[in-house]
Amino acid sequence: MVDDPFENMLAQMDRAEEYADVDHGVFERLKHPERTLKVTLPVELESGEVEVFEGYRCQFDSARGPFKGGVRFHPSVTQREVEALAGWMTWKTALVDLPYGGAKGGVICEPKDLTERDLERLTRRYTEGIRRMIGPEVDVPAPDMNTNPQTMAWMMDTYSMYEGYSVPQVVTGKPLEIGGTPGRVEATGRGVSLVTERLFEYLDRDLSDATVAVQGFGNVGSNAARLLDEAGANVVATSDVSGAAYDPDGLDVAALGAHVDAGGLIEEYVAGEIRGGASAADSRWDDPDAITNAELLTLDVDVLIPAAVEGVITADNVDDLRASAIVEAANGPTTVAADEVLTERDVQVVPDILANAGGVIVSYLEWVQNAQEFSWPLETVNAELERRIGTAFDETIEQYDAKGLPDLRTAAYTLALERTATAHEYRGLFP
Ligand code: NAD
Repeated sequence: MVDDPFENMLAQMDRAEEYADVDHGVFERLKHPERTLKVTLPVELESGEVEVFEGYRCQFDSARGPFKGGVRFHPSVTQREVEALAGWMTWKTALVDLPYGGAKGGVICEPKDLTERDLERLTRRYTEGIRRMIGPEVDVPAPDMNTNPQTMAWMMDTYSMYEGYSVPQVVTGKPLEIGGTPGRVEATGRGVSLVTERLFEYLDRDLSDATVAVQGFGNVGSNAARLLDEAGANVVATSDVSGAAYDPDGLDVAALGAHVDAGGLIEEYVAGEIRGGASAADSRWDDPDAITNAELLTLDVDVLIPAAVEGVITADNVDDLRASAIVEAANGPTTVAADEVLTERDVQVVPDILANAGGVIVSYLEWVQNAQEFSWPLETVNAELERRIGTAFDETIEQYDAKGLPDLRTAAYTLALERTATAHEYRGLFP
């Protein structure tokens, strides 16, 4: 089993190498991040204590354009994880053909233990720490786990204060009022839903009433669940870090969304302590059962959508998985050892670099609007998202079928590696 996400990413690259038309020397070059900055972040908390946090920004590859990638606030952040995520961003932007490279940032912290003011100070200090390496034409951060439009607003403000004028284009995923784009908040979940629909079309299966389990009910998971529910699928289970809710007849996704938006946990929802205006009494749905995150992963459903953290589908649980398709909303949810078993069992896995690319596609559209100083309506953004992720899906399927590749991940990786390698070959080696 590969526990280290960076080793997992390298193993995914190695699996694709034999099928990719990439010079071995260039391939070796692609295994190393361009640079990683580690920053020490002393912050005076609202309690009066000074806590010293640690943060990273990894810039993995810029052959195809400026670096692009989110910032994660989480206790389990490590340098290796940030580097793996930056690598995955590189393959993702290449696969969906955006003029970007890949990057990622992270701060080791538990946001639940910090006040709003603590989070603002930490974000500003982190932005100051990495500000010499970011910029609208250099490296453009965005939200990821536990960061959101407010975090991006603080990053944009901090960067702009140093520059002496407003620079909205330095981050994406901003609030609408300061240069954000309509559709960004739900973009990753919308992409997951669109890709699931395309997969069902490809497999010639009906999505209506297909059963879906979504691990993680945050930004990505909740929007994917809502949009799949609207598309007619039956979302039977979802979870957060506190536990999972399961109802074989389907969950009330809207009520769950209201509960979580109001700050509630899934375990409270299952226990009947429902926030956000919905109550068990006025719900037309049955009370769901409490199950664990581990049990959610092994439910007998048509589609499993991991939308929380990496490394959840491993050699240890893959034999218990019963879903007939997996759509990877989270980054790196499947280890290579598990992948090999899924390929043997013919379980279709839509890889993360395709399934969750909706977020970076709409981030790109936000960046373009900022550069043009011209904003687009939601319909234009959503249509462009659908066109771009649909094209990437079709190209992946074409590669998979035409080359007789073992699985969709290998197809997506060969495309991404070939595009990135071609950019390197054209640019040549400096000096
Ligand atoms: P989020 O913080 O909004 O939500 C994460 C969810 O996962 C929460 O419900 C949380 O309780 C749950 N969770 C956390 N740790 C867990 C654990 N150990 N077991 C079970 N559940 C757990 O984060 P998000 O932005 O929705 O990101 C989720 C995943 O999607 C991450 O892998 C992220 O890298 C990836 N992703 C996010 C975006 C984006 O635009 N936000 C884009 C591409 C990929």
